[in-house]
Amino acid sequence: MNNDHPSVFNFDNSYTKLPERFFSRVTPDRSKHPEMILFNHELAEELGIDDSNPELLTQILSGNKKAVGSDPIATAYAGHQFGYFTMLGDGRAILLGEHIDQTKKRFDIQIKGAGRTPYSRGGDGKATLKAMLKEYVYSEAMNGLGIPTSRSLAVLKTGENVYRERTEDGAVLCRVMPSHLRVGTFEFARFYGTKEELQQLCDYTIKRHFSEIPDDAEDKALLLFEKVMHRQIDLVINWMRVGFIHGVMNTDNTSICGDSFDYGPCAFMGVYDPKTVFSSIDENGRYAFGNQPSILKWNLSRFAEALLPLIDDDLDKAVEIATEKVNEFDSIFDVKFDEVMLSKIGIDEPEKGDIELAEEFLKLIKIHKKDYTHSFNSLRLPDLYRDKPFVLGDEFLDWKKSWVERISRGAGKGHSFSIMERYNPLFIPRNYFVEEALDLAVEGELKKLKTLIYNLQMPYWYDTEMDDSLFEPIGFDQNYQTFCGT
Ligand code: AMP
Ligand code: MG
Repeated sequence: MNNDHPSVFNFDNSYTKLPERFFSRVTPDRSKHPEMILFNHELAEELGIDDSNPELLTQILSGNKKAVGSDPIATAYAGHQFGYFTMLGDGRAILLGEHIDQTKKRFDIQIKGAGRTPYSRGGDGKATLKAMLKEYVYSEAMNGLGIPTSRSLAVLKTGENVYRERTEDGAVLCRVMPSHLRVGTFEFARFYGTKEELQQLCDYTIKRHFSEIPDDAEDKALLLFEKVMHRQIDLVINWMRVGFIHGVMNTDNTSICGDSFDYGPCAFMGVYDPKTVFSSIDENGRYAFGNQPSILKWNLSRFAEALLPLIDDDLDKAVEIATEKVNEFDSIFDVKFDEVMLSKIGIDEPEKGDIELAEEFLKLIKIHKKDYTHSFNSLRLPDLYRDKPFVLGDEFLDWKKSWVERISRGAGKGHSFSIMERYNPLFIPRNYFVEEALDLAVEGELKKLKTLIYNLQMPYWYDTEMDDSLFEPIGFDQNYQTFCGT
């Protein structure tokens, strides 16, 4: 790969200054006939990435040309997958470099699907076009929802076939994220590295993401844990707010910066049921919608475990301190969660009985098998739902009477409706519409996909022209299954 061309990114490579154990230098596979399918110009502009030369971008993101300043690596990490510890690492992702934007913020620029790395195990290091387009849709939808997430800069077809259950078009996704540090990176350091290396990782992470923690603080590791816990709690509550099911909440997919990432078997819940699972490999429902809070606590416990040697030299004492910290999870989570659920029904100054009112609503929509997102929206947009099958029927009359009475007090209905507007998105990437748009896109028809992505960028906003991607055919989700990063 030569890099005799203008720079597109403003690259730095701080990760390569960590001990060598943490990464492997790699060279992306070349793509035979790279073709840009989607490119996120808004994101490029936001981050000061030079997109004036599409051909050059295509060559760089497909692995055919090395960008100025790039030192490509695959990072090492471990993780608990479905509860079991295992060595992992970037098996099909390559970090091209860290782009520093105009405001001096640092972002990993990673390409996914560019070939094998030392961590690929039995995998081919490749990705299919459909899966990469799916990741683009979900990450951009999540961003539109105002939820911290990895972003997608581009999807390119490589011009090669990838073999899964059938032959598919191969693709590369360019993923952008404040960093790909994950709980699994710390588990890797704890179980395969030295205490000094774990300390180096901890210091690196603090400098990169939590510079407010003083360098000379005695309990740095504990402070780091606390920050990550707060960010992850906020994240999962946001997922619960919009009905998102990550699908594969393994510790290697739990980010340290608190962003959602790794959109494999994820999906949004339609009909409300906390037991909802779409992932074909999640046979026991470990990562069901309603389990996400307790799984997060479990994942954070693995994080605390990895940090133990840095918490205290005396292991028993370290366990005691860490356990106490982890046990703060429930009360922090519950307070924030209640706040968000009340906001969804328009209440921001809670009174006695409000939580019960919100819980009663959830109970009713569960019993009557109502759609999670539509149900909340039908409260604030009764006209839009009037003749739709998603309308809340007579069985909700009593509840509605109590609710109207409640929100008419205090700051009044107008105030409540404005809160509900901010907490209840109209547009979520519904399984039916996503599948329809992806199936057309892999056949080369991108119009539907682009319209979908456009609507998902403003999910709280309603316009009558958007009706086509608002109301899905009833029942589609019933047998819907998603598959891991194919
Ligand atoms: P994920 O389910 O995407 O979080 O991936 C879990 C692990 O499997 C990570 O170490 C990935 O790098 C690896 N992996 C997933 N797909 C492939 C593939 N096609 N080739 C090589 N490694 C892969
Ligand atoms: Mg992953």
